[in-house]
Amino acid sequence: MTFLMCSQNKELFYRKTGVLVTLVIQATQPSNLYGIVLDAGSSHTSLYIYSWRAEKENDTGIVQQIEECKVAGPGISKYFKKTHYISIKLTKCMDRARKVIPMSKHQETPVYLGAGEDMRLLRMESEQLADRVMAAVIRSLSDYPFNFQGATIISGQEEGAYGWITINYLLGNFIQVSEGINHKKTFGALDLGGASTQITFVNEKYTLVSPENFLPFRLYGKDYNVYTHSFLCYGKDQTLWQKLVSSDGILSDPCFHSGYEKIVNVSDLYKTPCTKRFKRTLPFDQFKIQGTGNYEQCQQSILELFNTSYCPYYQCAFNGIFLPPLQGSFGAFSAFYFVMDFLNLTSEKVSQEEAIRRIGSFCSQSWKVVETSFPEVDKKQLSEYCFSGTYILSLLLHGYHFTSNSWENIYFMGKIRGANTGWPLGYMLNLTNMIPAEQPFSPPLSHS
Ligand code: AMP
Repeated sequence: MTFLMCSQNKELFYRKTGVLVTLVIQATQPSNLYGIVLDAGSSHTSLYIYSWRAEKENDTGIVQQIEECKVAGPGISKYFKKTHYISIKLTKCMDRARKVIPMSKHQETPVYLGAGEDMRLLRMESEQLADRVMAAVIRSLSDYPFNFQGATIISGQEEGAYGWITINYLLGNFIQVSEGINHKKTFGALDLGGASTQITFVNEKYTLVSPENFLPFRLYGKDYNVYTHSFLCYGKDQTLWQKLVSSDGILSDPCFHSGYEKIVNVSDLYKTPCTKRFKRTLPFDQFKIQGTGNYEQCQQSILELFNTSYCPYYQCAFNGIFLPPLQGSFGAFSAFYFVMDFLNLTSEKVSQEEAIRRIGSFCSQSWKVVETSFPEVDKKQLSEYCFSGTYILSLLLHGYHFTSNSWENIYFMGKIRGANTGWPLGYMLNLTNMIPAEQPFSPPLSHS
């Protein structure tokens, strides 16, 4: 008979005749706290449950993601005509939260919903419709036994800033290296959604050039000036729509594989405000895309969407938006990661030249070969990886001006320490005041 004490979990292992029984000592179990964030993105909604130990609340690196639940169906903005569906769709994930979080903690567990880019676009179209969708979300989430804290449409700057907080929190970059001096360097954050894309990084030098692009933070005793910009309409789905509208209804499209064909309804193209800037109406109701699978030509057609003809500042990204010189390492997540992971460009460090070569080679494969090679992948998503990969390279190299040298500083990241990268964790840390402005009195926990 053996007794083993596991100090961290205060679990008692009782071993007898080869059978291991775990007796959990309830009385000594540290109290866990929980938080729920719903990320109402453009393509779908995800629910995340976080947990942390109550007595360590202000330490860095202690919040863990314990659950991720994907809400079935599209993003919430698509329900503007049938808002009653929102509640039905949220049920499965909210019920999951009820099961995962102990019942005794339900009442004190905060729930936040943040809606992103797609709801910003809907609000641009009609404030009334956007309000109707948000009211349905609020009604639904108020019905659960949790401490519902509100549902809001977050700004592009918030998305950028919270994404930056998330990755640096998870990487342990807010911890000071030694008493009073030298915090670690932070990573910049590159986020790509369906409707918008954000670039966020610390830059101290150019804060006065374009003050609206800078946010000051004081975290764990250190000041940060963070540059951030959200390019609405430059997420990967909206960029594809814009490209199709700008193409004059051209039948052949180099961003799709040869042999790929698809009928597009012109009325669908004009459903989003992002295509409205092309003040043209196509003289037909439908057109057929026929893929030709050519990386260089695809890139050329994408670059036409970046207006680089004017820049009122020392340096711009595109469309006259100020971009300071890139600095340090960057974490690229959301669709940056999904796409590059599919294209096998995340598991090892791949040079920019090699990434271009591999995407070029993927684009030149026929649709038949691609379809046969990936039978398990959703056909729509599969058909768009050539475009998406080319768009990512165009955005990073031509939009943000990464060079073959600075490309080496980009890390495509899906999860860090088991938590999804993206704005939701940073959002919750901020709303629960879990990131103090000053360094906590006791030294923070080390990351294990
Ligand atoms: P959002 O819903 O705004 O966060 O956007 C996420 C984007 O990533 C959308 O364009 C989705 O279609 C896309 N996406 C999600 N999962 C994948 C995946 N496995 N491969 C490619 N794109 C993806």
